[in-house]
Amino acid sequence: MSAAGGNNMTAPLTLALSKGRIFDETLPLLQRAGLSVLEDPETSRRLILPTNRADLQVVLVRASDVPTYVQYGGADFGVVGLDVLLEHGAAWGHAGGATGLYQPLDLQIARCRMSVAARADFDYPAAVRQGSRIRVATKYVQLARQHFADKGVHVDLIKLYGSMELAPLTGLAESIVDLVSTGSTLKANNLVEVEHIMDISARLIVNPASLKLKREVLRPVIDALAGACEEQR
Ligand code: ATP
Ligand code: MG
Repeated sequence: MSAAGGNNMTAPLTLALSKGRIFDETLPLLQRAGLSVLEDPETSRRLILPTNRADLQVVLVRASDVPTYVQYGGADFGVVGLDVLLEHGAAWGHAGGATGLYQPLDLQIARCRMSVAARADFDYPAAVRQGSRIRVATKYVQLARQHFADKGVHVDLIKLYGSMELAPLTGLAESIVDLVSTGSTLKANNLVEVEHIMDISARLIVNPASLKLKREVLRPVIDALAGACEEQR
């Protein structure tokens, strides 16, 4: 608080990350861009982590909250899976793009695919051909609705928050829409992939107002991350 007042050049840049895969896979990119996070989220209880730069901090939020933080300026930028980003955008009625958020970079990390999977003994193609209503359990209700509407498949969508693999095993649903990387979780639960919906990777998202107002600090960080992605490839 300076007596002279004036421009607040010291407001730190805030990067939103979620614990786990996104944090772990973003760290090497940050490192390559010359940025290091000074605390380990797995051992620290803090939700705001300092970095090697006084003007940059990391906030730890739930994966599905990252777009919300960046959209409302609770964070200037963030890293989020395309699955979460598109589901967030669709919930706002913005198919294909979320709510004015800038998406300057495909970080090419946390890669997987979104697929329809069904119990091995369920004849999914036959059910589709016959036009039966198929019960589909998923966390991605908006994206699933779009996918099946595009294909003209009749479904009853059941929203879940936890392990979707369990739904077909208990008779809650015949199939699921979920993320798949190696396929070993599906296999372990006697499920087979029956449709590929889209490829998924993590994206950098940026608050448009931040990009205007904090351009001088934010732009170089985005450019450094872009360079780090190129190198990683
Ligand atoms: P929460 O645990 O808070 O419900 P979440 O399950 O979405 O959130 P993560 O499991 O860390 O959190 O997943 C974060 C992101 O990583 C997902 O949005 C997706 O983009 C990606 N992801 C999820 N599962 C896989 C996977 N098996 N392989 C590669 N990337 C994945
Ligand atoms: Mg998870």
